Amino acid sequence: MFELIVLACLRGDMADICAPRLLPAPAVLSHAACEATAAERAATWAKAHPDLMIHDPECRPRSEAGTPLSLTEIAPGIHVHRGGIGIPNGKNLGDLANLGVIIGEESVAVIDAGSTRHVGERLYLAVRALTDKPIGTLIYTHMHPDHTLGGSAIAEAGGRIIAHRKLDRGLRARAENYEASLDALIGAKGFLGTRTAFPDESVMGSAEIDLGGRILDLRAWHTAHTDNDLTVFDRQTGTLFTGDLVFATHTPALDGSLTGWIDVLDELDWPIKRIVPGHGPASLPWPEGGKALRRYLGAIARDTRAAIHKGESISSAIKHIGESEREHWQLFDEFNPRNATAAYKELEWE
Ligand SMILES: [Zn+2]
Repeated sequence: MFELIVLACLRGDMADICAPRLLPAPAVLSHAACEATAAERAATWAKAHPDLMIHDPECRPRSEAGTPLSLTEIAPGIHVHRGGIGIPNGKNLGDLANLGVIIGEESVAVIDAGSTRHVGERLYLAVRALTDKPIGTLIYTHMHPDHTLGGSAIAEAGGRIIAHRKLDRGLRARAENYEASLDALIGAKGFLGTRTAFPDESVMGSAEIDLGGRILDLRAWHTAHTDNDLTVFDRQTGTLFTGDLVFATHTPALDGSLTGWIDVLDELDWPIKRIVPGHGPASLPWPEGGKALRRYLGAIARDTRAAIHKGESISSAIKHIGESEREHWQLFDEFNPRNATAAYKELEWE
């Protein structure tokens, strides 16, 4: 099987910055089929990336097209890539969120896509290392860039993007900022070719996806981690992809509603055997896997209410809100002050 690779270079005064990019096709291609469509596909991709110069389209055996992301099968037909825990940089290239692949009898669903085109391409190769079944769906669990910006590679492979009804508007309002800040953190070469792919379909309330002999239940939540959180439940194995409604190890990040988030954790009501959190281990038992997060959110709510009750200013309060949780979480200083600020602003109107 063959994959189309191009050399993509920035235009203008950074024209010496180039990286190979893989252009996935919806169908699995023989060498002849790849060659027959290579020029046209490269031209179409170039048109969609006016900031890039595209050179040397070449059909290569899949084994030489890049390094697939590592996946672990956590339940039959459910494979998870465990993202790193850190701040995006030129070394991790934005591989910082847990990503999922669910294989049905007829098609494949991908859940989240990493922060860069590079991660999305490696995720595509990881799917193709498992199966040649069509990739029918890419589900975004929420709008954050570490989950969405790699989506274009999976979309080009055929994945229709499905997300919470509110995601499209939220992501369109932020995409330019997300792209600029990730580009700055990761560097132009590592970020090259990354462009936000927006949803094709939205979910209000709930929806089902049939992968052939395997039904996924999608549920769009009220405001919690963000205002566009969506969970994916695999009935066959009792596995719930929570996205960032559950964090483990990595300090939680509050970008929605603290009280809404605490409520959602009590509303997850399927027969859940295990969850796949947005950050942390590839899989955790439930409800045990949500214990640390509940404790963290409870501490933030309690400390914030106490500070407001005492009439303490926000700038003074954020220095100690959640402090009892410090030893339990990584990246605490990067995320906790922002969470405390958000909690204070939300709870002062109670
Ligand atoms: Zn998030």
